[in-house]
Amino acid sequence: MERIVVVGGGYAGFTAARVLEKRLRRELRRGEVEVVLVDPRPYMTYQPFLPEVVAGSVEARHAAVAHRSHLRRTRLLDGTVERVDHARHVVVVRPRSGEPYDLTYDTVVVTAGAVTRVFPVPGVAEHAIGMKHVEEAVAIRDRLLTSFDRAASLPAGPERERLLTVTFVGGGFSGVEGFAELLSLAHDLTRVYPEIDPAELRFHLVERNPRILPEVTERPGRWVVRELERRGAHVHLEAGLVSAEGGVVTLSTGESFASGLLVWTAGNAANPVVATHTDLPVDARGYLVTRPDLRVGTVDDTVPDAWAAGDGAAVPDLALPAPGALTVPNAQHAVRQGRRLAKNLVAARRGRPTRPYVHGSLGVVATLGLGSGVFQYHRVVVRGRLAWFMHRGYHVLAIPTWERTVRVLAVWSTAVLFGRDVVSLAEVQRPRDAFVAGATAAGATAGARRVTGPSGPTDRSATGPAAASRRAEQPAATDPVRAA
Ligand SMILES: Cc1cc2nc3c(=O)[nH]c(=O)nc-3n(C[C@H](O)[C@H](O)[C@H](O)COP(=O)(O)OP(=O)(O)OC[C@H]3O[C@@H](n4cnc5c(N)ncnc54)[C@H](O)[C@@H]3O)c2cc1C
Repeated sequence: MERIVVVGGGYAGFTAARVLEKRLRRELRRGEVEVVLVDPRPYMTYQPFLPEVVAGSVEARHAAVAHRSHLRRTRLLDGTVERVDHARHVVVVRPRSGEPYDLTYDTVVVTAGAVTRVFPVPGVAEHAIGMKHVEEAVAIRDRLLTSFDRAASLPAGPERERLLTVTFVGGGFSGVEGFAELLSLAHDLTRVYPEIDPAELRFHLVERNPRILPEVTERPGRWVVRELERRGAHVHLEAGLVSAEGGVVTLSTGESFASGLLVWTAGNAANPVVATHTDLPVDARGYLVTRPDLRVGTVDDTVPDAWAAGDGAAVPDLALPAPGALTVPNAQHAVRQGRRLAKNLVAARRGRPTRPYVHGSLGVVATLGLGSGVFQYHRVVVRGRLAWFMHRGYHVLAIPTWERTVRVLAVWSTAVLFGRDVVSLAEVQRPRDAFVAGATAAGATAGARRVTGPSGPTDRSATGPAAASRRAEQPAATDPVRAA
């Protein structure tokens, strides 16, 4: 049986697998071909909703689309591809448990996306968190809510100030959206935390370049800076993070402050599986060299049986007049490339001609918190509430499957009635604490009974429920969000 292996089930891979299922329906039914998707996550993440997950406007689960629900005829493998050895037509899969194994293929589709670009800044590995995955978005929100709870009980002073200080590093789309949504949430929270004055909030956005949002032109970019500053944010342009040691943020401008939350959104880097772990051709940045029809290789030198799309592929942008232009890494391209890739793969398999990928941008739209946004299409710029409606309208329709659309709409509708949901589930990250505390307390009581009898003296300072709950309150040193 012929095997098509898809590496990564995000935007491009998930879409490609869905279209392959449709176009190869007969072959799949007859057992002539199988589509195998390998991903360490059982869902595709709808990343444009992550800033709204941070704000609590979108339920975390609704920003994820389960592979199993929507890829019924694809074989799903839970694992990470460590290597693509195209000379042998093998991918090396590391399952979550057990030893890595070889999976042979006839055709490989590489759609593993990109990873967060990290620079070796002291303290970042220990204290920062990214914003590319659902769990990160949830942790960022929970951290802010927990900080509010703690700060509200503290007198004015350095610890209260630290808890109410948030820093985002990177003023690209995802950074600005996450920052603005969190700022909007924080301002709304001050209404339910009368102990905290909005003037106490310290929100810092740090950007190395002289401007934020490179995806829009200069004027709307400047407007976004003014809009954030009007809401009390500090936007540091032409400033780099030089240290985050001990949770103290130090900028290249010399400014320094303790920050309770440090979010790293400084762009993409090539995924190691394609940058350094394959014999497929990659460009100088580590992205797969891809033809306009999404086969790997160049027009003159095509690699047979290998296809690529999405953030991890260097795809020529035929919609731009500039020679050598590549498509920018965004969802708009990834989803359309996934679709075109699958159609071309099926066409090539049937000996038909393939078509080049061409997509003119639909413009860019960003949320800046509840009721505010910015949209740009060529010279048309829309700002404020209308842009925010456009952002919501576009994404609620763009998220794959109607089922997800309806769920997201339902949450937005209930928010109109009841306002923001401000509960923090930070303890979800330490689910065994209550059980362990209970078990420890029960063990201590039983031990004390054995030693001294039911009414004898007992020193519970080290093992009793108070100690257990004290231990439960200790931050885990290895958890970057808690440690921050
Ligand atoms: C916060 C945020 C907001 C964004 N907002 C927008 C927006 O508003 N508009 C827009 O157009 N774009 C937006 N983007 C960008 C957009 O989400 C990406 O461009 C898009 O997800 C790229 O799709 P992809 O399929 O290439 O990669 P991904 O969607 O990242 O998918 C990659 C998949 O590969 C899997 N994978 C990775 N490595 C391996 C491996 N070794 N083995 C197996 N599987 C692997 C991953 O688990 C993942 O499922 C945003 C991104 C972020 C982070």
